[in-house]
Amino acid sequence: MGAIVEKSSLEVLLAAPRGFCAGVERALDIVELTLKRWGSPIYVKHDIVHNSRVVEELRTKGVVFVEELNECPDDRPVVYSAHGVAASVKEEAIRRNLLTVDATCPLVAKVHAEAKWHNRQGRQIVMIGQQGHAETTGTMGQVAEGEMMLVQSVDDIEALEPRDESKLAYTTQTTLSVDDVANTVEALRRRFPKIVGPGKDDICYATTNRQNAVKAIACQVDVMFVVGAPHSSNTRHLVQTGQRAGCCSVLLVQGIGDWNWNVLDGAKKLGITASASCPETIVEEVIDAVGERFELTFRTIASAVENVKFNVPRILLQQDPEPEDTNP
Ligand code: SF4
Repeated sequence: MGAIVEKSSLEVLLAAPRGFCAGVERALDIVELTLKRWGSPIYVKHDIVHNSRVVEELRTKGVVFVEELNECPDDRPVVYSAHGVAASVKEEAIRRNLLTVDATCPLVAKVHAEAKWHNRQGRQIVMIGQQGHAETTGTMGQVAEGEMMLVQSVDDIEALEPRDESKLAYTTQTTLSVDDVANTVEALRRRFPKIVGPGKDDICYATTNRQNAVKAIACQVDVMFVVGAPHSSNTRHLVQTGQRAGCCSVLLVQGIGDWNWNVLDGAKKLGITASASCPETIVEEVIDAVGERFELTFRTIASAVENVKFNVPRILLQQDPEPEDTNP
């Protein structure tokens, strides 16, 4: 008989809240309801959420992901992703009489509305965001070119040349680092004392809560797994938050096998969180894999309670929908 090898013990600190936010849940509900209502294929502009597992599963159900509307036929529904789209995309869809269902997160739509309002007041807008990110592209596309200027960090502020410093506003991507954006807003206010904005920033409740949850456990653990996708802004900022909050070993984990077991050598406490676009099933798989090698005990560190829920567009709840645009 072989010798029984005792597993080392490892305490897992689970961040709460973690994983899916209300905007992601709504976007996924919208895709499922669109499939149910009109059958497959349906087209989704951009990855519905930034998670390849979620996207692949939807592909098997008949969802076609595209980046441009010209990849969509005229006779099939098109869903806009949670990140939102530029006004020109909606205009093009209306021109082609496409059946569209808008899964833009209501909190992103709120930022769009703010941008358009400032624009109507004659203000140029500074957008704090990431170049090329779908949400930033969509928000900047709410106003005419030249009406919005992108800054990615404090370093970009010096180069700004607004046409009138007394008529300036700022807005932010919803998924950035809370701390970085606070610094950028402060620097903007220093250079442009008359700039107006949303009070603090447009970072959403889910991003804020997940970053706070990471801060609450990062200094207590030897290693932290942030489960999510590398192309997810939310995920990358959770990794950064964990590092800044004092954890020396923060790993972005997409799924099982995505880490070298050496990182857990000698570890006594492992922190686990997941980004707003990551399903809990992946977190459970990661925990099961770790549990095969370690004797696990669990502690949940809750730093906020979330009960946000967003409704899906009415067109998905109607009995006999006509092909009409649901855009606000
Ligand atoms: S991360 Fe925030 S803004 Fe983005 S979908 Fe979730 S709730 Fe909406």
